[in-house]
Amino acid sequence: MIPTGEFTTQSAEETFELAYQIGETITASMVFLLHGDLGAGKTVFAKGIAAGLNIDPAEVSSPTFTIINQYDARMQFYHLDLYRIEGEADELRELGLEEMLNEPNAVVVIEWPERLGGFKIPAAYEVNIRDLGGDARSVLIEQISR
Ligand code: ADP
Ligand code: MG
Repeated sequence: MIPTGEFTTQSAEETFELAYQIGETITASMVFLLHGDLGAGKTVFAKGIAAGLNIDPAEVSSPTFTIINQYDARMQFYHLDLYRIEGEADELRELGLEEMLNEPNAVVVIEWPERLGGFKIPAAYEVNIRDLGGDARSVLIEQISR
């Protein structure tokens, strides 16, 4: 069961731990859309989910330049950073996003989902991370379906 609602974390470790606990509970295909400014903690959150899926977080690097990183663990873990994407359907198709979303046992975590443009994700957890000053962050988790 994925917890929803607003959480406040006081450090990167706490954000990691929150995401880790979520990752641990995942047993079915699932999508996370991570919203938040640069430096909010989206990649920290993604690493926590990965760790919960038994992936060594030291091996999880930000896909800022590669756009997509894939890890084979308890589930397939796809970590995307769409910052450099223009939001054109062709680019997203080339990434194989459609296939990822239909794969069994796949966890898809997307940073900068705003860049999806018109590409519709049918069901996902939206995670909104907001800097509250210093190391404090608000982490709002909501379940959406379209
Ligand atoms: P993003 O992927 O959103 O651009 P990162 O996860 O790469 O951001 O970086 C977040 C930065 O903020 C890291 O340097 C992390 O150590 C720091 N940080 C400080 N406090 C927190 C917190 N409460 N949660 C997450 N990251 C935090
Ligand atoms: Mg990032």
